[in-house]
Amino acid sequence: MLDVTGFKKRHAHRFGADPAVFVAPGRVNLIGEHTDYAGGFVMPAAIDFGTLAAISPRNDGRVIVWSENFHEQVSHQIEGLPKNGGGHWSGYPLGVVRILREAGFAVPPFSLSVQGDVPLGAGLSSSASIEVATALAALSLAQADPPREEIARLCQRAENVYVGASCGIMDQFIACRGAENHALLLDCRSLGYRLAPIPENVSLVIANTMVRHAIAGGEYGIRRGEVEEGTEILRSHRPEIQLLRDATTKDLELWGAEMPENVLRRCRHVITENLRTVAAADALAAGNLKKLGDLMAAAHASYRDDFEASCEEADTMVGAAQRLPGLIGARLTGGGFGGCTVNLVHADRAEAFASRLHNDYRARTGIDAEIYRCHASAAAHAV
Ligand code: ADP
Ligand code: MG
Repeated sequence: MLDVTGFKKRHAHRFGADPAVFVAPGRVNLIGEHTDYAGGFVMPAAIDFGTLAAISPRNDGRVIVWSENFHEQVSHQIEGLPKNGGGHWSGYPLGVVRILREAGFAVPPFSLSVQGDVPLGAGLSSSASIEVATALAALSLAQADPPREEIARLCQRAENVYVGASCGIMDQFIACRGAENHALLLDCRSLGYRLAPIPENVSLVIANTMVRHAIAGGEYGIRRGEVEEGTEILRSHRPEIQLLRDATTKDLELWGAEMPENVLRRCRHVITENLRTVAAADALAAGNLKKLGDLMAAAHASYRDDFEASCEEADTMVGAAQRLPGLIGARLTGGGFGGCTVNLVHADRAEAFASRLHNDYRARTGIDAEIYRCHASAAAHAV
């Protein structure tokens, strides 16, 4: 749990001014992987791990950002912010500030402290959480209150063009629009969404495989390229297919043979994943947990076999979960090649499930996994 009072005091002590404080959540994606940039559907939930941002104005023309996680501070003239993130953590908050200013928000010079308890780089989106917390903080000083959809898009742009990570809109959107005890079905093209309640007797158990394979970043770009290649082939037959989200399994049956085999399988994953994701939201809304679990199992198999974005450790973690009592559904969540699995578990079994999962995974891999019992939580807000 983040200690807001202590955090506020430390900011005041470091910068000599009482701050305004904001928090933005991390997230876990229940289903809908690599569908966001294809204009499709995702169903994440905000979680009770997040990032705090404390902000106070300065009168020396500077932007100073201090991260309690890295124990490091950066300082720039606000008119001379670096042109890109340069691979440094400060690229996330500075990118947001630059993009907000370019978009016309009059963000004045400030001191910012950040502190997060989202595990960094584990696929639970510490990045969107620091971006959105920074955005709310900076916008408060600019005395601006744009719609949450716009904040999400601006933060995504900061990560795309300033940090240089080609992420979709999901992470920033759920940080901006999540709701307590709910998952959110998002149409990544229109940004239309609906909330689906997570029943009280269902627990979110997130299992960190503790591995992140070095290929992850590069393969993400390769998958995006493959999806685009397949989309172009389908578009040449049906010009109304703008994004892969417009294509159907029928289209693949008709023209999939024109694609290289790997491209066909990537496209099949995305097209069927969109169907599964909407069906999962319906199942959750109807309280049909059996159906939801089956869809998560099918989604993991598709991610593993067709999209080839899983890894041995994640498959081991999902396989171990599927043998345990209390499981509703399990799958690898996030960009792939490691990171976390998400498990929906009957609440009365969650504690035993978490400890057995930890033991079973260690017995099979020798790795001590971190297991987090989370709660679907509210969107970013002032604290
Ligand atoms: P994920 O979003 O899955 O956690 P990313 O690689 O997208 O992984 O983003 C993680 C990066 O975000 C960190 O390596 C760091 O650069 C930055 N970041 C996140 N939270 C903080 C924080 N509290 N302080 C400084 N940098 C942070
Ligand atoms: Mg991220």
